[in-house]
Amino acid sequence: MVNTTGSYEVMEKAREEGRTILTEIESKQLLRSLGISTTEIRLATSEEEAMAMSREIGYPCVLKVSSADITHKSDAGGVKVGLADADQVARAYRAIMASCRAKFPQAAIEGVTVQNMARPGLEVIIGMATDPQFGPVIMFGLGGVWVEVLKDVSFKIVPLTKADAANAVREIRAARLLEGFRGSKPVDTSALEDILLRVSEFVAQTPQVKEMDLNPVFAYPDGAVAVDARVILGE
Ligand code: ADP
Ligand code: MG
Repeated sequence: MVNTTGSYEVMEKAREEGRTILTEIESKQLLRSLGISTTEIRLATSEEEAMAMSREIGYPCVLKVSSADITHKSDAGGVKVGLADADQVARAYRAIMASCRAKFPQAAIEGVTVQNMARPGLEVIIGMATDPQFGPVIMFGLGGVWVEVLKDVSFKIVPLTKADAANAVREIRAARLLEGFRGSKPVDTSALEDILLRVSEFVAQTPQVKEMDLNPVFAYPDGAVAVDARVILGE
């Protein structure tokens, strides 16, 4: 059984502030409370703070814009990965702010998140949406062009059984990529199935959640980590 108590605190805070979209920090906090691995993440509101946090988190690290008004962070120039030291963090902070302010002059920018850089893995997407007919459904697919161009995804209706989770992962056309190719090791599909089941159990108990987007999740030969996350609450 997934313990959902930690998630309520996060959702309640957003509600009190009149928000239906949880920030990346809140979304990851919620995922962690459900037992889903994510990156370490903290909010910095100045260049100095970002530098100090990066020293605590360690290198390489990642900086990302934090703004409820910017949903596609990389399109806005709001994501810098592979930062090797505090100087690079300072430069990344300035570059992110300049680019996001130029592209979205109206956006309220809360600051920048500092996170550890997850080691490279196979990028997959796990999503949850509310279908008018079927209610909550969970989506699984490979990340990048696989989902954008080829629309190679599978859907399952909540609540998922273990067999549903296993099939969701195996049913995509590119499933063979998960089994390893050109010498790469197979990814830990049981870790992906575990995330699908935890998300399913959570949303089955939490009708106020309308959408979830774990995009991407890095899949490894051992385990899987959500490196970006967004949770949207219903009205
Ligand atoms: P967007 O809002 O554009 O979806 P993401 O947070 O998904 O922004 O970041 C864009 C890309 O940067 C991701 O697809 C991933 O490849 C990489 N990335 C983001 N965060 C991390 C991280 N903490 N560690 C490693 N790679 C990351
Ligand atoms: Mg993303």
